[in-house]
Amino acid sequence: MIISSYNENNKKIRKTFETIDSYNSFFRKVNKRDIVASVSPSKIVAIGLNYHDHAIEMKKQPPKEPLIFLKAPSSVIGPFENIIYPDYMSSKVDYEGELGIVIKKEAKWVNKKDAYKYILGAICINDITARDLQAQDIQFSRGKSFDTFCPVGPIISDEINYQDVRIKTILNGKIQQESNTSQMIHKIDFLISYISRIMTLNKGDIILTGTPGGVGQIKENDIVKVEIEGLESTNNNVHLGTKTISKEI
Ligand code: MG
Repeated sequence: MIISSYNENNKKIRKTFETIDSYNSFFRKVNKRDIVASVSPSKIVAIGLNYHDHAIEMKKQPPKEPLIFLKAPSSVIGPFENIIYPDYMSSKVDYEGELGIVIKKEAKWVNKKDAYKYILGAICINDITARDLQAQDIQFSRGKSFDTFCPVGPIISDEINYQDVRIKTILNGKIQQESNTSQMIHKIDFLISYISRIMTLNKGDIILTGTPGGVGQIKENDIVKVEIEGLESTNNNVHLGTKTISKEI
């Protein structure tokens, strides 16, 4: 079941499925080009340091329990929209390619063995991060939540093996991250169960399952793409905030 698919050129749903009506509420128009983000979460729950090679490059021990933080839902943009680099506040912004899990129905105190029943499907995500602000702040909120910091892929699919697909991040045509979701430290079924014991997951919420090693910076005019086997990619240009929005506060 692929529930939504938007084409950059003809801007039409490429495929429709019997369940599309129930999921229309996930869609919202995001810009004049009429490209539609395929998710509209009430919250984005992200997992930090969930791949060994990423924990090593961050000079951190992988946490025994999942490291959870929230990313503002207002950071979501469509797959081909521009990322606005907040150069008025940050000078180190990184890409983080991730498999996103979209929740199908309310999940509260879910057992690990039932966890997959709560998954609508998977989607490509770029967990854009102002790394300098993340290091400076105790909380991750600011560094993770600027508007445009969460490009989401054009389709959601439940036709992939969530825990065994290739994931790549490509910056200006060059592969920067290349791994497989089998390398996650805390697996998706456990994450759903674990999070659902802390906060109720609502229909449409997204879990970001962590990024593999190879994170790095984006700069003005870069094109950054997250590619996951079986899913269509995000493909976003980077523009500077000081050139596109007012600096005045
Ligand atoms: Mg991340």
